[in-house]
Amino acid sequence: MPEKYRFLTGYMKTFKGGVSLPEHKDLTVDKKIRPIPPPFEMILPLGQHTGAPNKPLVNPGDSVKVGQCIGKAEAFISAPLHSPVSGTVKAIKDIFNPIYGKKPAIIIENNGKDTPVSFIKREDPESLPKEELIAIIKDAGLVGLGGAAFPTHVKMNIPKGKTIDTLIVNGAECEPYLTCDHRLMVERTGEILKGVYLVASILNAKNIFLAIEENKLSAIFAMEKATVQMKKEFHGKQIQIIVLKTKYPQGGEKQLIKAVLKREVPPGKLPLDVGVVVQNAGTCFAIYEAVYKGKPLIERCVTFTGKCLREPGNFTVKIGTPLKDVVGHCGGFTETPAKIIAGGPIMGIAQYSLDIPIIKGITGIVFISKKDLEIYEELPCIRCGKCVDICPVNLMPTDIGRMVKYSRWHYLDELHPSDCMECGACAYICPSRVPLVQYIKLAKIKESERK
Ligand code: SF4
Ligand code: SF4
Repeated sequence: MPEKYRFLTGYMKTFKGGVSLPEHKDLTVDKKIRPIPPPFEMILPLGQHTGAPNKPLVNPGDSVKVGQCIGKAEAFISAPLHSPVSGTVKAIKDIFNPIYGKKPAIIIENNGKDTPVSFIKREDPESLPKEELIAIIKDAGLVGLGGAAFPTHVKMNIPKGKTIDTLIVNGAECEPYLTCDHRLMVERTGEILKGVYLVASILNAKNIFLAIEENKLSAIFAMEKATVQMKKEFHGKQIQIIVLKTKYPQGGEKQLIKAVLKREVPPGKLPLDVGVVVQNAGTCFAIYEAVYKGKPLIERCVTFTGKCLREPGNFTVKIGTPLKDVVGHCGGFTETPAKIIAGGPIMGIAQYSLDIPIIKGITGIVFISKKDLEIYEELPCIRCGKCVDICPVNLMPTDIGRMVKYSRWHYLDELHPSDCMECGACAYICPSRVPLVQYIKLAKIKESERK
């Protein structure tokens, strides 16, 4: 049964295909990124991304170094896993993965020495052939850091016969509460842009757009200034900053392509089918680190926030750091959270323990207080049509929900539930509190069973 709660109550304005939400970004937007030191015990899940999980390359008792590959990627859609600390492998056992459920993980005891493998620094990576750049990105274990965690090298391998004319860098960060991409764009501006140029050169994209929502003025100013300065360094190639209206959802690839280029990605097709690749701003920063510094993906920027947390902020945190250690670093709780959400509050996943590790796809953790939580009952649909108006991919959420509720599975074929990106806007806006996303998720399961 769907859970009967929701938070972030009320909305400011609705648009065709989106809604303006209370943002709550003020809790962390001015907090500079700070590092969280890795604790004694690190938890490295073998499945942290879309695609096949890793095969362990270490055994209990083995010594490891910072940056050492400890999980092999055997499938094309996969990415290797690296140790974020030096120390000893204590065990390989099942743990609670915040996104993928109970799954195996490598447990490492940190010796605190930070002994690294040697990272290969590169002075002029722009001159490297694109195949070599893609191999570096693949070996560094990079995945999309906007939340999808899709292996980055796969996105950069454009199939024969397809041409990419446009790269869109996603700086929208449309989910409420999250500010990690905003802070990265302010504080790591030059590094992100170097990563963007690398991606553009791999794709041979003529047009480069950096899309930022208008609520991130400091990021827009920082990027505007840096793009002008760096134009000369990168042979006159200009990145155009696109300032978007603030609305949810807008960070999805298809919505962003529509907002920036007015191109529609047809149902069942990919951005590359319309000549576009979208990369998140944080991913571009990780690409810079991998290519220029030879550093694999062993840490990322994460927003830890919510009114229950004593010191919310944006932090560079090592992959595999247990959440309980993060909370300790943030000064603990001012009150026991009523809900803990991994990811943004709309699309994120509820967590039931602080023993989960931070993994590659975690953009933020939101700790919700009891008074911000609305307990509700599902009421009958009043056929207001608000869910239909707001759906960014033009679905009929109310009809899908009704067909699922009354087990009319054969009608689902005409309603295309598989096109739903689970943004949650329909459920959020529904006055009858119909848990539409849960019904749509069930519809997707039934649809795949019927095929
Ligand atoms: S049907 Fe899916 S894509 Fe459309 S608003 Fe609802 S959750 Fe978002
Ligand atoms: S928004 Fe809710 S009440 Fe309105 S049509 Fe959709 S499901 Fe029914």
